[in-house]
Amino acid sequence: TRYTPSPDRYDSIPYRRCGNSGIRLPLLSLGLWQNFGGVDALENARAMLHRAFDLGITHFDLANNYGPPFGSAESTFGTVLRQGLGAYRDELIISSKAGYDMWPGPYGIGGSRKYLVASIDQSLKRTGLDYFDIFYSHCPDPETPMEETMAALDYIVRSGRALYVGISSYSPAQTQTALALLRELGTPCLIHQPRYNMFDRSIEEGLLAVLKRERVGAIVFSPLAQGLLTNKYLQGVPAGSRAARSEQIYLGADHVTPEKIERARELDVVASERGQTLAQMAVAWVLRDETVTSAIIGASRVEQIEDCVAGLENLNFSADELQRIEAILGE
Ligand code: NDP
Repeated sequence: TRYTPSPDRYDSIPYRRCGNSGIRLPLLSLGLWQNFGGVDALENARAMLHRAFDLGITHFDLANNYGPPFGSAESTFGTVLRQGLGAYRDELIISSKAGYDMWPGPYGIGGSRKYLVASIDQSLKRTGLDYFDIFYSHCPDPETPMEETMAALDYIVRSGRALYVGISSYSPAQTQTALALLRELGTPCLIHQPRYNMFDRSIEEGLLAVLKRERVGAIVFSPLAQGLLTNKYLQGVPAGSRAARSEQIYLGADHVTPEKIERARELDVVASERGQTLAQMAVAWVLRDETVTSAIIGASRVEQIEDCVAGLENLNFSADELQRIEAILGE
């Protein structure tokens, strides 16, 4: 039977304007970095994508190398689109990226026009899309002139491969240069995608101020610190979790340090007094500054998405709660 989305899908999630653009994004977006690869069960991936859209999550975040293997998250997404979700293409904001290692040789990594254009063409084929809504330079490439990377993004829009462009993990200074170049080219930067969570607050030291001043939106990744800011690891490393999976290189069991768990336990107390799970509070916390347009979560199960969405009902923090959180993070 074909997928029919919930008629109430626009009733649960608020949408926030992305900088001074015409686009509004859901406060929560879903990323396909993990759990949507060729090694993962298609039925679970499809169930998560459908449930997310049913809850009003209109934005799905991809990159050329999401998997494993590389490219397979885009293939999974393409399959789910073809099986029904694609009928709602005009209700979706779909992004992809190129920058990190993707294929062998000098043209499969970095910020060259050669790599970016070839990569988005591959991504379009894997997903079966005619265009991406947002295409990102996934990371700055110090060996490629910024002029070339930004001109490639501009070309990608002008040639119809994407509607908007973004940058990810650029420093405040690199961001200022990129924004100025893109503006000059006539393809203003829609969005910046940095990491932000209670354990990594580096964007508070400059980047957020630049984006606020330039009126560019921020969509933050790993708001749950890959699961450390949830109740998942409070009693150890459970089987099946990201930190327990052997192929994991980004969150190994050694990242689950006693210090992090102690802080997570203390934060969990504040969360429960707010009537929230730790994951819900962690998401609300990154959204407390309106410069942050959306938080991109990852998920391995439908229930995790439901939990995070339900947390959007309480986005307010009292001065006392904020202070207690500061005290815990500052220990
Ligand atoms: P999160 O910090 O949201 O971590 C997601 C993980 O947290 C899930 O896989 C799950 O772990 C756990 N989790 C999620 N919800 C809950 C819940 N309610 N209760 C308990 N546990 C929960 O984000 P990610 O690190 O996965 O990154 C999200 C997205 O951001 C990526 O998919 C990608 O799109 C983007 N990203 C971009 C990067 C860039 O360079 N631009 C880099 C990294 C990410 P488990 O799987 O163990 O169940």
